Amino acid sequence: MNLPKKTLAIFSLTSCEGCQFELLGFFDHFEKITRFYNVLNFRLGQEENLQGPYDVAIIEGNPDSQKQIDSLKEIRKISKIIIGMGACAHMGGIQSQRNHFPSKYIGKPSTKSVPDIIKTDFIVPGCPISHQEIYRCLMDVYFDKVFELPDLAVCFECKQNNNECLIKKGKPCLGPITRAGCDSICINKGEACLGCRGPVDQANFPKMHEILGTMLDEDESKNWLTIYGDYERIHKKDEHKR
Ligand code: SF4
Ligand code: SF4
Ligand code: SF4
Repeated sequence: MNLPKKTLAIFSLTSCEGCQFELLGFFDHFEKITRFYNVLNFRLGQEENLQGPYDVAIIEGNPDSQKQIDSLKEIRKISKIIIGMGACAHMGGIQSQRNHFPSKYIGKPSTKSVPDIIKTDFIVPGCPISHQEIYRCLMDVYFDKVFELPDLAVCFECKQNNNECLIKKGKPCLGPITRAGCDSICINKGEACLGCRGPVDQANFPKMHEILGTMLDEDESKNWLTIYGDYERIHKKDEHKR
């Protein structure tokens, strides 16, 4: 059965492009997506690229210059649906740590995320994203469904995976306030959750501060809560959606 195709564009702003590689790395899956979408613009993946309008535009990376902010606004105008892909787009990413340096060392304005600049219809979180989640998002969008993320903390998956809790061993971990969906991959390998998927809806920040405060000083706690973006600001900003 031949279904009518929607048009898709994939753009990259300031990023390491790792999320695009995750998208392309599983080429069989990507090929399946092209049965539902005509990819009109994808600089990393093809040589010929067309101007919009687009049914769907995926944005990787964050806008880090006026030129990128202008092109992001232009993409919004010509795209029906915008998907922010990865922690850089979602929260500003690792590069947003410069927002916390003394201004005399920073020659640029503060780092913004995609939703700071334009209305963003859906976010596929993570650093990098998982290809399964972006494909699920694209299929939901294709069938005009609302793409939803798990409303559970990473701790839930961590317990299902029978990991020994790092916090109980006196080590910091952002699992209690971070959105599940990665199968607690870092903790499974003995590393702490650094929060790349962003805060879960019911994140309890006072409790997280209290826990981190038993192990870290104030500056270290702040560093933990701003690795991929300012966790508390992002959580407050999303409050109106809940
Ligand atoms: S979210 Fe991570 S993997 Fe994706 S583009 Fe940003 S830095 Fe790279
Ligand atoms: S190790 Fe981290 S994610 Fe796992 S249960 Fe403990 S706090 Fe939660
Ligand atoms: S465990 Fe935390 S840091 Fe690791 S992938 Fe999952 S959300 Fe990201």
